Amino acid sequence: MSVPPRELDRRHFMGLSASAAAAACGSTSGLAGETRRSLSPEPRRLRTRPVLVGSGNCLPGMKAAFPRLVAGEAPLDVAIDVVKVVEADPEDRSVGLGGHPNEDGVVQLDAAVMDGATHNSGAVAAIENILHPSEVARLVMERTDHCMIVGRGAYEFARAHGHEHVELLTPQTRRIWLRWKETLSERDDRFPPPSAEDSKQASRSRREAELLAQADAILAERPTGTIHCSALSVAGEVACTTTTSGLSWKIPGRVGDSPIVGAGLYCDAEAGSAGATGRGEAAILSAGSHAVTELLRGGASPLEAGLEVLRRVTRQARRAAAWQPGLVDEAGVPTFGLNFYVLGLDGGCAGVTLRGGGEYAVAEPDGGVRLEQLVALHEA
Ligand code: ASP
Repeated sequence: MSVPPRELDRRHFMGLSASAAAAACGSTSGLAGETRRSLSPEPRRLRTRPVLVGSGNCLPGMKAAFPRLVAGEAPLDVAIDVVKVVEADPEDRSVGLGGHPNEDGVVQLDAAVMDGATHNSGAVAAIENILHPSEVARLVMERTDHCMIVGRGAYEFARAHGHEHVELLTPQTRRIWLRWKETLSERDDRFPPPSAEDSKQASRSRREAELLAQADAILAERPTGTIHCSALSVAGEVACTTTTSGLSWKIPGRVGDSPIVGAGLYCDAEAGSAGATGRGEAAILSAGSHAVTELLRGGASPLEAGLEVLRRVTRQARRAAAWQPGLVDEAGVPTFGLNFYVLGLDGGCAGVTLRGGGEYAVAEPDGGVRLEQLVALHEA
């Protein structure tokens, strides 16, 4: 039987690398990995109590979907249904419909899913005009041999699978974006927009003045946000998803951590699950969610694992501050936000943050569906 050249090359390469590795380690066996004891033996999977953990904006979705996890549904089905509530909510400005747009006023979404049972993942990045990027990420996982599809290709892929074209910029987010644009610089030809106070004086509608005041509050801080949900089923299987409109006013085409496996999410049937929200660049540079999951594999509790990676992120930010000074303050504490949501295979979970307050969402049979305080590494 003839072997296709690509397959032959791969076998040849694998044979060579196995013997090269054996030689480097001084092994007398040709296939070192098969004859030696694994450093991370597969743990016995236990039936466990079902748990969901995720960012605070998961709460409404968790309330609706948690009973299905308790009833034995697959963790990925439930996690995706949790985040879809916020993808479709025009009032959440960090995800899906009503998410803040990029510099050009276009909403570009990033999303990924990961399934511990099959150790597979799918993602879309910089996708436009699709309401549920988390579902499209799942289609990438289940209907292709790829892990990520981006931009126009992701949109066409979603359309081919029957997803509708949807305008994701709402009248409110369009106006907030326009205000951002008009206040960005004094060196362009756009006049500054009327202030909220001026609008009141000019007896425009109260609603109008409220909207402008709200826009100014949003613009005073660069708005961020995302939704992540990790799930553990009664059968002890883990899965997770992260979905976002990313950093507000981002450079068109910028992709954050959310759709990147290992950064914005990661799960492993032998270790647990984790996800991130906050400064995507820091989650990418620390391979944050993977790092957390590896610490779980090594025996750390969810809280210890999350805080340890935030310590690493702090040290990394201090080094990066040599060329990007605003990244840390005088005390060496990162000025940006980063949170991890962590779920162990025994149902233990934690939510951690670099500094300050904030809440995360948890659903478990004994404690109900609730918000908990994030544990901060640094004082506010
Ligand atoms: N992590 C997201 C991103 O960098 C943004 C956020 O969570 O605030 O795109």
